[in-house]
Amino acid sequence: MITNQYFDLRVEAEGISHSTARVLINVEGEGGIESLNFAGANEITTDNDNNPLGADKAWTYRRVSFSTPGIKTVSALVIDGRRVYGVATQISVQNFNLVGQKSIVLFIGDAMGTAYRDASRIVAQSTANRFREGWFDELQQMDKMPVTGMSMTYSLENIVPDSANTGSAWTTGNKTINGALNVFPDNNDFKYNSANQQATKQFALDNPRVETLWQFLKRRHGYKTGIVTTSDVADATPAAEGAHTITRSLLKDIARQYVDGSINSGNQFDVIMGGGLEHFNARTVANSGDTRNLVTELQAAGYTYVQNRNELNAITTPPAKILGLFRTGNMNVAYDKLLLNRPPDEPMPNFGGFTNQPYLDEMTAKAIDTLKQGNAPFILMVEGASIDKQSHPNYAAGQIWDNIELDKSVAVGRAFLNTNAQTLANTLVLCTADHDQSLSIIGAVDTQVPNAIQNVISTLLYPNANRGQGNVGIENRVGETQGFPDYQDANGDRYPENTNRIRIKVGYRTGDHTGSSVPVTAEGTGALLFYGYFDQTDIFFKMAKTLSMNTQPLDEALNYKRSVDVPYFTPAEQFRLKKATERFG
Ligand SMILES: [Zn+2]
Repeated sequence: MITNQYFDLRVEAEGISHSTARVLINVEGEGGIESLNFAGANEITTDNDNNPLGADKAWTYRRVSFSTPGIKTVSALVIDGRRVYGVATQISVQNFNLVGQKSIVLFIGDAMGTAYRDASRIVAQSTANRFREGWFDELQQMDKMPVTGMSMTYSLENIVPDSANTGSAWTTGNKTINGALNVFPDNNDFKYNSANQQATKQFALDNPRVETLWQFLKRRHGYKTGIVTTSDVADATPAAEGAHTITRSLLKDIARQYVDGSINSGNQFDVIMGGGLEHFNARTVANSGDTRNLVTELQAAGYTYVQNRNELNAITTPPAKILGLFRTGNMNVAYDKLLLNRPPDEPMPNFGGFTNQPYLDEMTAKAIDTLKQGNAPFILMVEGASIDKQSHPNYAAGQIWDNIELDKSVAVGRAFLNTNAQTLANTLVLCTADHDQSLSIIGAVDTQVPNAIQNVISTLLYPNANRGQGNVGIENRVGETQGFPDYQDANGDRYPENTNRIRIKVGYRTGDHTGSSVPVTAEGTGALLFYGYFDQTDIFFKMAKTLSMNTQPLDEALNYKRSVDVPYFTPAEQFRLKKATERFG
């Protein structure tokens, strides 16, 4: 926790004998006994657990916070007639004291582990009108950020996490179980039944919550907040910034929480962009428990509503708030928006009638233009969602081009950061992933070889790599070639047309998430805090630290490092040096 961050404290007593059982809470900080601060209710519930024979009781204190930092030992005594039961836990509270007016843009490539970043770089930066072959890759935008760290992603109960608990890690600083958004599990969760969602969802929405950094900064410091994604806006990664539920599947309730709030009341974001239109304008009692139209409600609350790419790009004067819902479900991937032909092992696009969808970099630019107005600082999350969604079914083209789309959005964030000395001193840009997936880079493939295999999907026999060491593992490496791809980018939009002969060859082991650490790159004020190996929850504390300290000495140290470091060659320099080595070679 950070000081004054809200969370709910729940004490559960099972197997008790008396309905009159009561609880005594004791809080001890480093300075001695403290009182339990809670701004909400103390809810008392019975018959929570799955044991119908014994009595049970739970006390949930809503909106607890600590105003001072340090280790807090919280103990609970349950007095049950003549019996007394006790339990204690310790909570670490970091000091948060806003210094200056700094903004944060956090880019998330869903599932973007190292192999994903590499595949995207190889495809986007090896085009024939650039210089690459046999020499250095040109760095992507996300690679050019000067600080790199690694984030461990495991959840409260699994090595392999999902997007809900990982998002909760960087938004709240706490770990939770897979599928959960910013709440801890409790002992009535088993009563939620997805087959009977509306009648049982109260048990998924009543869990002990933790306030997200987005919510905290809006409530305490008047920050503007935003979520931009290529997924459904109620999907796990955007929901992690502003919703509370033990199951990410309650999409209609997540959308409702964006409007009504959950741990805090009122609108949670100034900018909401992505898919998921149906959660706002097609609500029924059966699917949502209400018949509200959240689009018209948000319009009445001052949001400018845009429904397609033309309407988004027609905005010249940024409005106070934007709601952009560009299709139902998840938005289409870059490869399909570009109208490229999918390779034979990937499906043809289905636009669902929404043929005029913006690109993520366009959405990012309008989001920043909107949030940066006035003097309030802002915090924005931008997600490239289909890196993950295309990786699950092993669609390499859909996935890699989506990674390029995210990188073009990172370019927008970096351009804003580098606008002037003031933005440079007051903005932190981060780019990371929530978790990894099972992509491997195998090599290159000659697509003119009959039945050439470009993409080894997880259900096929995995090939041995051919690195010029003889005929080992010849089973599946049809068309495999040594060397590098020869992509073309004729129109210079940085998305290769994917029509040339030699292409990247990749494989998937599982088509699911993996438990590997993921890279974090950082630029701007406080970036140096993101150097090293750390847990994903530390991203929350490092963001909070950036906002609550004088970052100038840190930033000067990074500038000094950059001034003395070896240079990364530009393509022109590489070309000159390559020519020189050829002359001697
Ligand atoms: Zn996934």
